Order: sequence, then C-alpha cells, then structure tokens
Amino acid sequence: MGTDETRMVCACVLLSALLAFAVHAADEPVAKSEPVFKDEAGYAASLEALAGKCDSLGLAGEARVTRQWIVRREPGRQYFFVVAEQDPTQPADDAPTVVKQWHSHFRDLRRDYARVLWESALADAEARRPAAAYRKVHEVLREDPDHAEARRVLGYKRSGDRWQPSERIRTQSGRTLPPTVGWKRNECVRVDSPHFHITTDAQTSVANAMAARLEVLHDVWRQLFFTAWSSPEQLQQVMRGKRQFPAPGARYEIVLFRDRDEYVRQLKQVEPQIDVTKGYYQKGTRTAFFYAGDDSPAATQYHEVTHQLFHGCTGASVDPGEHADFWIVEAMPLYMESFEPHNGYCTLGGPDSERLQYARARRLNENFYLALDQLVPLSRTSLQQHPDLRAIYTEIAGLAHFLMDSQDGQLRDAAIEYARRVNSGDVPADLLTRLAGKSFAELDAMYFEFMKTIPKQEATDGHG
Ligand SMILES: [Zn+2]
Repeated sequence: MGTDETRMVCACVLLSALLAFAVHAADEPVAKSEPVFKDEAGYAASLEALAGKCDSLGLAGEARVTRQWIVRREPGRQYFFVVAEQDPTQPADDAPTVVKQWHSHFRDLRRDYARVLWESALADAEARRPAAAYRKVHEVLREDPDHAEARRVLGYKRSGDRWQPSERIRTQSGRTLPPTVGWKRNECVRVDSPHFHITTDAQTSVANAMAARLEVLHDVWRQLFFTAWSSPEQLQQVMRGKRQFPAPGARYEIVLFRDRDEYVRQLKQVEPQIDVTKGYYQKGTRTAFFYAGDDSPAATQYHEVTHQLFHGCTGASVDPGEHADFWIVEAMPLYMESFEPHNGYCTLGGPDSERLQYARARRLNENFYLALDQLVPLSRTSLQQHPDLRAIYTEIAGLAHFLMDSQDGQLRDAAIEYARRVNSGDVPADLLTRLAGKSFAELDAMYFEFMKTIPKQEATDGHG
C-alpha cells in the first residue's frame, strides 16, 4: 500500500510537472522564426521564469543551473567562453522525464539567445569589429552547442552526437627531439595537441593537462588578439560561409622538464641566469621551456606562451621593440598572467590580479612612476639596463591592465593594435598616442586615476 501511495505521489508530481512545463510553453508561444527576447535582459527574465518553475516543482539543482547560467560579469575583468564538445548540462539518459523536460525548455531558451548572439556577431563582422564578432561566435556555442554555423566558423566537424575539432590531443613516443635538450628517444614522450607539441620527461598525464590548459589559453589569445593572426576581411568571408580559417600550421614547441633541478641543469649552458627564472622562451628555436611540479607557476607559462604566440605571427627576422616601444612587448604577456580558467569560461584582468595589485602599490604608496614619454622610447636594451628595471616592470603590468580594462575597455582596441604593430616590427612614430587619441600626459593622468579606483586586496593565496 505504501508503495502504491508513493507511486501515486510520484505520478502526481510528474503529471503536474508535465502540465507546468506545458502551461509555460502555451503561455509563451514561440514562433520559431523570432526569438521571444531581443537581448540579454529579456533572456535573463525568461531563464528566471524557468528557474521559478523548477522551484515550484522541487527541482532545486535544475533551478540553480538555470539561475547561474548567465555568467555575471564584473567591471574591469574580461570574459571569454570556451567551446565544449557537448552541452555540459545534458541530463543522463536515465534522468527523470521532468528533468529532461526542463532541459528541453532550457535548451529552447538558449537556442533562441544563440540566434540573437549570432545575428549580433554577423553585424559585428560586417561592421569590421572582428574581435567582437569572433568572441561572440564562442558565446553562441556555449548557448547552443549544436549551432552549425558557429561550429563551422571555428572548424568543428560533427561526429555522432559530438562536435570535434580538426585535431585532438595525442601521445607518442619522442620522435623529433628538441635541439637544446640532451634526451634520448626512450627518455621522453611527445604530446601533440592541435597547436602545441610538448616534449617531456615528466609523467604523460602532466603534459596532457598542460596541453589542455595551453589550448584554452591559445583560444582566449586568439579571441582577444584576433587581428594579430587574422583580418576583418577573412572573418567576413568565413562567417559568410565562403572559406575556412587556415588549418593550424606548425605546432608551438614546448619542453617540459620533470622538475626544476632538471630544468636548471639542462638550460644552464644556454641561459646562465636560468636559476632565477621559472620558465623560459628561447626566441631562436621558438621553444618554451617549463618544468613540472607544485613550484611551477602557471602564470609564468601563460606569460612565456603569449610571447611565443605573438612571435609565431611574425617572421623570424623581426625583433620587436629593438629601437623603441619595447615595453608593450612585455605588457601583453604580463596581462595574460591574470588568465583564470573557470567552468566553461575564462577571465583576464580584474582588480584582484596580483600584478595589478603590485603596480597599484608602486604608483599610490611608493609614488614610483616613469612617465610614458620616458618609457615608450625605451628599446629592449635600454629597458633591460635601466637601474629601475624591477619597478618599471611592475609599472608595465599596471599599464597593461589600465589599457585593457579601464573605463569599460575604451582604450583596449588601441592597445591591442599598438601591441600587434610593435610585435610585427611596424612602428611609426607616435603610434600609441595616435591610436589612443590621447597625449602621453593625458594617459599618465588617467593611469593615476585608474589606480585610485582599484581596491587594495589583502594578501591572499588566491582569487575569491
Ligand atoms: Zn616576457
């Protein structure tokens, strides 16, 4: 009898649940040609209505997923979406019917919003805002992982119920060995991901994890610095379906030592000061060297790989910042140290970034500041030999955060174009001031004001 009663209750809940979702759908007839909302605010309201329905049905987990779906974006931080092969919210095959119904409604709303985003991305591409468009294509796929046009733009192919990139991560025994390292073939393995070629004597699982992390970094770098590797015209053609982006070329070379001792021992003859470094990018061989273990900082890897990615866009003869403007060559890798992967998205910048906090202290507490009319003319050599190198390096990181994130990123496009031009060796006089439309003195003053808006972060071992 108890069993019957339980079954009755279950059926009853199930029935009301079915009705509840059905009523919801009937209330808001969705014309398939027109999304029911036009912007994120309307989308958020529809998601909240769905979450409320979940509450009334006792679907606490589904209500939470629905409410937390829209990533809350804080000012002064950039957000990038990372494409998954499948929808991460997909219920299990044996999930209750009511959960599957929730998911179907959730997907309908997301599909509608993906269409809004796709139209917006097309408009951005046509208006020659390629980085904004390319970034939105990634967001389209977070909302609707089966958006075929967005998948096509990013080079995915359908395989069963999954979408696969053209290349995946593979492990092989060491075939071609990195030049500077004294390894024999049986002493190392090679891990290939779509854009990286990691040779390592560490555990394969460590190299695999690194490859996965660096692929995400690479993806974010391509979104942010779109114009460094492509062009507005190319994006327009790809979005219109007239061509594809070129397949990845030669992979970026990474050597991953099993520990720090091995890193120092092997690289000592190449770089006498190796023992003060935590990662090293060798321009000549275009190879980045890192080591495994808890004492290996991820931020340094993001920094050195950013150098590598910019360098990969230019000819071997280019030595950026050789005569002037060297600071911006360092500024973008310093900014990329703030890279933080999250579940389905990543962030860059933010007031809690460690480098920004140090820069804030230099500017506000120590009152150290090398004005831009002194900093910008410095070449690589003159910066490296400057008596205040350490303090200037901190300031450069602060300037990078300022240019990228102050005042809703109003200087960001100028900063990215400046970095792109300097990294490609194409630097006319007054490039920064012309791109920014501000004098050095105006930028100096804006930097000071920006720093005053950054709240002091108590020393913590991580980000909140
Ligand atoms: Zn650097």
